[in-house]
Amino acid sequence: MTNPPGPDVVVVGAGFAGLTVARALTALGHDVVVLEGRDRVGGRSYTTTVAGVPVDLGATFVGPTQTEVLALAAELGCTTVPTHNVGKNLIRWRGRVRSYRSTIPRLSILELLDVSRIQWRFERLAKQVPLGAPWTAPTAHRLDHETVEGWLRSVHAGKSTRDLMAIMTRVTWGCEPNEVSMLHAVHYIKAAGGIGTMLDVKGGAQQDRFPDGTQQIALRMAEALGDRVRLDSVVERIEHDGSGVTVHTATGAVTARAVVVAVPPAHRAAIAFEPGLPTGYAELAKNWPLGNLSKAYAAYETPFWRTAGQSGEALSDDGSVFITFDVSPGDGGPGVLLGFTDARSFDPLEPQERRARALECFAGLFGEAARNPVDYVDHRWSAEAFAPGGPTAAVPPGSWTTYGRRLREPVDGIFWTGTETADEWTGFLDGAVRSGHRAAAEVAGYLATN
Ligand SMILES: Cc1cc2nc3c(=O)[nH]c(=O)nc-3n(C[C@H](O)[C@H](O)[C@H](O)COP(=O)(O)OP(=O)(O)OC[C@H]3O[C@@H](n4cnc5c(N)ncnc54)[C@H](O)[C@@H]3O)c2cc1C
Repeated sequence: MTNPPGPDVVVVGAGFAGLTVARALTALGHDVVVLEGRDRVGGRSYTTTVAGVPVDLGATFVGPTQTEVLALAAELGCTTVPTHNVGKNLIRWRGRVRSYRSTIPRLSILELLDVSRIQWRFERLAKQVPLGAPWTAPTAHRLDHETVEGWLRSVHAGKSTRDLMAIMTRVTWGCEPNEVSMLHAVHYIKAAGGIGTMLDVKGGAQQDRFPDGTQQIALRMAEALGDRVRLDSVVERIEHDGSGVTVHTATGAVTARAVVVAVPPAHRAAIAFEPGLPTGYAELAKNWPLGNLSKAYAAYETPFWRTAGQSGEALSDDGSVFITFDVSPGDGGPGVLLGFTDARSFDPLEPQERRARALECFAGLFGEAARNPVDYVDHRWSAEAFAPGGPTAAVPPGSWTTYGRRLREPVDGIFWTGTETADEWTGFLDGAVRSGHRAAAEVAGYLATN
């Protein structure tokens, strides 16, 4: 494979990470080909419409400290609007609907004290866990062999705190608290700047959104890359020998000096490496599963909840929809409610039943008018035919301390990127962009010396 014809670099995957790598390397004068398995770019960013309004089936929100994705969006002319956050939030808790303001819902004083206590203990643990290398923390082994649920019980968290943490776990990793490693949870939340920054609207990760959807950012990156991006190209096999790589799809092969694998760790398992990778790489891919989270959008003639003084933001401990947001384009209509739905109970249902369950939840929170939308759409990431799952990896106990070192360590001209490999805002669009810049710098250094 010496002096191969073809591009300098093949990038596998045209999500935010892969496109960022391709863009950065192209800007440095390198010849790049991006092979994407789907018939579209964007990966876990995928925009459709409901009642003619663009809505995101995957990533939606951005926050002020997510500076890399904001800079990229600004460069590409993609603007944000503030997330609607005016009025009272609602919580359906223990069979009653109540209103509250701010991020922490209205619970009893004792319950609120317990939430603060647990949050404080969580943040204290985070101080000991270094970003990018959580396995080196003095407490790493203990934390990694405990689940979030196990830890909550060990510190005697009350039932309401545990239920609130379960909602956080479902929306953050798409899994239950007894499925995710405590080391992963602490590291992930630290990478997002803390629990408050991760969950808040004002000043936090939900502060703003893109009125035309997040996928437009990927589409604009891909447009500038032109025919370097090849869709419907599932990478099945990568041959490597230290002097070059050959990347195989069902329809052909591309030979290059290096390859950047920009797919979630779990999807690396579907690619055969020849010769096989050193110990730990294949095991990592098998032990870094993606969670599952789904979304439902209902559109109405107007955002009628706003006239009732409600923000459209809600939390629920009952039913398929457990968090809602108002993503309407304005006061005049249409009104659009976004509901995060629990994949475990929602995804196996038939389309009509899913719609009925989602509308039932919206009506339980915002009143009977929510039962009759003018349009409705939902999306199940677990049901994607290719590269299923999301929002991000739900890393189980033991994986970080056993395989974590392999997450992004290059092998023989094979480099790794994707939001799961980021130090800051891992799991988010911002982490994907950051990881793309990191990988592009690594590859540029490699090309300069090999
Ligand atoms: C429901 C949901 C809600 C979310 N909400 C937010 C949010 O509000 N804010 C936020 O910042 N983030 C959010 N996220 C997370 C965000 O979408 C991801 O962090 C980000 O899109 C990951 O980008 P990536 O490039 O790392 O990976 P991906 O987007 O997964 O890109 C990987 C690409 O590789 C392709 N691929 C996989 N295997 C192969 C193969 N063998 N050959 C060729 N191509 C392959 C895939 O098709 C995909 O296009 C959400 C995600 C979901 C699913």
